[in-house]
This record gives sequence, structure tokens and C-alpha cells, in this order.
Amino acid sequence: MVSRVIPVDPFDLVLFGATGDLARRKIIPGLFHRFVVGQIPPGARIIGAARTETTHDAFVQLIRESLEEFVPKAASQGAEIAAFLETLRYVCVDAAGEAGWRDLGQHLRPEAVRAFYLSVSPALFGAIASNLDAHQLATPESRIVVEKPFGRDLASSQALNADLRGVFDEGQIYRIDHYLGKETVQNLMVLRFANSLWEPLWNSTHIDHVQITVAESLGVEGRGEYYDRSGTMRDMVQNHLMQLLCLTAMEPPSRFRPDAVRDEKVKVIEALDPVVPTNIVRGHQYRAGSDAEGYRDHAGDPQSLTESFVAMKVNVGNWRWAGTPFYLRTGKKLRARTSEIAIMFRDPPHMIFPRIEGRRGNALIIRLQPDEGITLRTTIKEPGPGGMRVAEVALDMAFAEALGPHAEAQDAYERLIMDVIRGDQTLFMRGDEVEAAWAWVDPIIRRWEEDGQAPAPYDVGSSGPEDALMLLHRDGRRWREIQV
Ligand code: NAP
Repeated sequence: MVSRVIPVDPFDLVLFGATGDLARRKIIPGLFHRFVVGQIPPGARIIGAARTETTHDAFVQLIRESLEEFVPKAASQGAEIAAFLETLRYVCVDAAGEAGWRDLGQHLRPEAVRAFYLSVSPALFGAIASNLDAHQLATPESRIVVEKPFGRDLASSQALNADLRGVFDEGQIYRIDHYLGKETVQNLMVLRFANSLWEPLWNSTHIDHVQITVAESLGVEGRGEYYDRSGTMRDMVQNHLMQLLCLTAMEPPSRFRPDAVRDEKVKVIEALDPVVPTNIVRGHQYRAGSDAEGYRDHAGDPQSLTESFVAMKVNVGNWRWAGTPFYLRTGKKLRARTSEIAIMFRDPPHMIFPRIEGRRGNALIIRLQPDEGITLRTTIKEPGPGGMRVAEVALDMAFAEALGPHAEAQDAYERLIMDVIRGDQTLFMRGDEVEAAWAWVDPIIRRWEEDGQAPAPYDVGSSGPEDALMLLHRDGRRWREIQV
């Protein structure tokens, strides 16, 4: 198999927040990987912008150290790193003030694709957009990239969108949810819409229910204060889990084009029934085990009521899915780091073979992490004499094995940044999509805030609280085990 690298036009990428954590850990290493495979054209400029007054050389040194820390093969890539560092510039810009904007303008070329990546606090988005406008740096073709969180409720997301749309058209705004850059998430669309096998089965006639799990083994280390103001519902469900739900549940778009795909995702969100309190297991902060610290050790507020786990049963109210619930769960400090979408099929209408004890039925498991791949659980005859016995086996495909080195995980950020340069918005969230997601999530959070109940604890390393198990048990179903 030949790896294809689609070339892009020369570009000027301005990275606001270039000295920050996300830029150093993800964005710059992602750009470096694309540089190594030859996708970054000669003459491309990566212009770091931050408030700190520093020299070009000191910035280059900072980025060199970041690459050495965060690029696994950096030790053997000295020549590539040196060449990559040549693309860098640094400008000291105060996002909210006057300093530096004229300087920035001098680094930008009229003929190059122009992208502004805002890897800074959302509180600065509006100021940066209006400064770009005031200093005539935002051309009609330029792009602006923003990081989540896109607000903390409907009203703030609308205000954020209004700030951005005051300067940029929706077609220029790229809202990053890095889950959409994951190989398997895109593969979900290919699996569904490039194979005739699944579509006839992809509905409530054949699918009993769907489980979407995003389990993290880490806690809120280092992000305690931020997390405590946010919580799992805002930090994970409103964006990542809802995106996975949308891609699983959406109708086939007419074309693989940004608005055709995003129209279908919005329709899913709009079809979601409100969640009644009995269908949601809230928060449940993890309690400290003997050798593990608990959430409140990091949260800053010992009385914190913020959730670190959510499980919920969601009904998509449309013809395709009526009667097939989607169960979502996500939490921190769980048994393992696992993300997957499990499509659980109904049993055959009439079983002629002996029942297997504990039979779980056909399932299609789409694994996002740790090892991306697809598993199809099937029933076969158990080998050997002694009558007809059946067993369940997994037809298992890890992308890394099936596709060899070309499956080597490309970080989600790499793909998404190159999509920005190419001007492809398919894997980015549209403003109305973000607002629709908040409109659905807001009443749930408001209810929690109003009733003020403390979340029940769960153990570090568990699969979440008992109530989450009960959510499925009472429907005669059970969660897939969180795989270690
Ligand atoms: P960070 O480490 O605090 O970095 C913030 C950056 O913003 C620094 O480079 C800082 O530069 C710059 N900055 C702050 N005020 C500025 C101003 N007035 N003018 C110009 N630059 C200014 O934050 P981060 O963790 O990288 O996060 C950046 C954004 O990504 C946030 O919106 C965050 O929510 C989002 N995000 C982060 C992660 C992650 O893993 N870190 C994941 C998802 C989303 P100076 O130090 O020079 O002021």
C-alpha cells in the first residue's frame, strides 16, 4: 500500500498561544509530523504568537525542547527538526491589547493561505477576532481555528459564535473537536456509507441498543480547578460523546461534503428526547483509594459537587431509532482507558441451537482507543464432537495489523490542521451544531444545579457507580466490560 500525502498550498499559520501547553504538546508536534512526510510545502510559515516577550532564538529553542519531549522519534530526527525550525517565526502580541499586531501583519503574505489558530483561553477569542479585523489581517479567504470549550452553556456559546461571526463567515470558522480527527471516527463513516452490508441492519429493527463508552484511567491531575468549574457533562458529553452519537445515528448524507455531513449531525441532536432524571446517573466523584488520591484532592474545593462520571440512556426520536436506546458513559479514574462504540444486535427471532450460558449476541465494536480497530462478535459452532454446541468468537481487526505501517496513528491534530489549510470543514463542528448540543445539555445541568444533590462516589479503578450498572440492568441489558 502506498502512503498518499495530499500536498497543500503554501500557508501562513499564526498560532496564538504558541508557548502554551496544547501548542507545545499537540499542535507543534503534529505540524512537525506533517513536515516530515513532506506535506508542509517549502515556504510555509508557522508564526508563533503569545504575550511573553521573547526573542526568535529563545522561541525556537522552546519549540526544539517541546519536539524533543513530545515527538517519540525525536532523537533520530535531528536533521528534520532543524529544517522544521526554519519555518518558525515569533511575534509578541497582546490578544486583548494593541501591542504586536502591526508586527504580525508584516509576517503575513497576501498570496499565502492564512490561518489563525487560537490555542488560548476562549475569553480571548472575541478580542483576537476584533483585533484581526481592526488591523485588516482577516481576509475573506483566511480561516480561524478555535479550541473547545465552545462556551459553558447555550447563552455563552451563542455569544462566542456572535463574536467570531462578527468578523468571519461560518465557512471560515473551524471549531476543533479532536475526536473527529481520530482515524476510527472517520472510519465509522466509511464503514457505514461505503459498505452495503451494514445499512440494511442499521436501525431499530436489527439493533437492540448502542453503547458508547469513553473511559479514562487518569483523573483530573493538574486540571482540577478548570475541571471543577466544568465537569464531565460539559467537558466530555456535550462535545465528544455527542459527536460519536451523531456519527453513529445520522442518516447517510447525500455527499461527503462539509455541510451535507453536518446537516445530518444537527438533525440527530434535534431528534434527541429530553433525558428524564431516572435515565441519567450523575457525576459520582471518585473516592480516594488506599494508594490513589480522590477527586477532591485535586479540585481545589473540598465540598465540590462537580461530576467526574456520567452515564445516561438517550432516545433518538426518529423513525430509524425509535425503540433502540443509546447508552452513553464516560468518567475519570475508571478501570482502563478505553473508548468504543458497541452496536448490539438483536437476537435471531427463533433459535434452533442450544442456548449458550451468558450469550451476549452479535455485536459490532468500533474501538477508538487504545488500539484502533473493529471487532465483530459472531456465533459459530464449537469445534469437536458431542453434539451441536455453539460459541461466540470475535472477528477482530486491529488497524495496525491489517494496514501495517500506514495505520500508524496519525494524531488527530495533524489531520485537522491540514484540513484547515485545505479548507475542508467536514470534521469541524458548525456553530448551529454546537448550540443545538448545548440546548439539549443545558436543562440537565440546570436540574442538577437546582437540586444540589451530592454526587455518589465510586471507587478508583472501577467501572463507575452501581447506579450506572442498574441503568442497563433494569432494561435487561448490561454494559460491556471496560477492557483493560
Ligand atoms: P496555556 O498552557 O495556559 O497557554 C495559554 C497560551 O495563551 C500561552 O501561550 C499564553 O502566552 C497565551 N496567552 C495568554 N494570554 C494572552 C494574551 N493576552 N495575548 C496573547 N497570548 C496570550 O493553555 P493551553 O492548555 O495550551 O490551552 C489553550 C486552549 O486550548 C484553551 O482554550 C484550552 O481550553 C484549550 N484546550 C487545551 C487542551 C490541553 O490539553 N491543554 C485540550 C483541549 C483544549 P503567554 O504565556 O506568553 O501569556
